[in-house]
Amino acid sequence: MLNRVFAANSSVVAEVRPSPNHDERAGGGSPDMIVLHYTGMQDAIAALDRLCDPLSKVSAHYLVFEDGHVVQMVQESRRAWHAGQSFWAGETDLNSCSIGIEIVNPGHDYDYPDFPKRQIAAVTALCRGISTRNTIPPPRVLAHSDIAPSRKRDPGEKFPWRTLYDSGIGQWVKPAPVADDNGVLALGDRGDAVTGLQESLSQYGYGVTVNGTYDSVTHDVVAAFQRHFRPERVDGVGDQSTRTTLRDLLSHSTRVRTIAAGTRPNL
Ligand SMILES: [Zn+2]
Repeated sequence: MLNRVFAANSSVVAEVRPSPNHDERAGGGSPDMIVLHYTGMQDAIAALDRLCDPLSKVSAHYLVFEDGHVVQMVQESRRAWHAGQSFWAGETDLNSCSIGIEIVNPGHDYDYPDFPKRQIAAVTALCRGISTRNTIPPPRVLAHSDIAPSRKRDPGEKFPWRTLYDSGIGQWVKPAPVADDNGVLALGDRGDAVTGLQESLSQYGYGVTVNGTYDSVTHDVVAAFQRHFRPERVDGVGDQSTRTTLRDLLSHSTRVRTIAAGTRPNL
């Protein structure tokens, strides 16, 4: 595979550094999902080198440094290798349908610092451009942890999803307040309430089997949901706040779909 420099897809890109780690998108379609990651390495340049190393077999379309410097490594038309084994809304080849953005942050293993404002501004501008060039439904702007909940925690609970949402990127609802309640669902629980929670998570797109048992996958998926939508407490426990936030999110996305489909209810 030739490692030619290509023209950047986005005006936000400051530098093109081609990675050899890409192939054809299955089915040849255009992307309809954005997956956000953190690099999880102490050294940003080492992360860039790894994403361009033919031996690593990993890549992403974009890398965003702490100061907002954006490097493009793979053209948007190509399939970058960032998702790994993953699932969302019935699909398992998420590299084929997505754009991958790596955000420089050392992550949970190295003190997990806050994301600087300049970096988030660059991520937001990049996502807006991607959404202009492609059709990205708001619920399909996701965390790596959403699509691989048992393996991944990135970009993590400090990622400011609300800031992106306020700029028209992704889906967000105000989280229901966290309170200690009696009706929590946790590992090992069984019954209709667990089934209901699993159905709701699955309806949103998460990879959980609806079996009425609060198994380890359910725990991991709830933790991923919390990291994205109820970040105040990430513990994998199905408390009332988590369930209410999920319910609000589902009714919000149904409303958005209804309006988008032109069947706006009479107001
Ligand atoms: Zn990742």
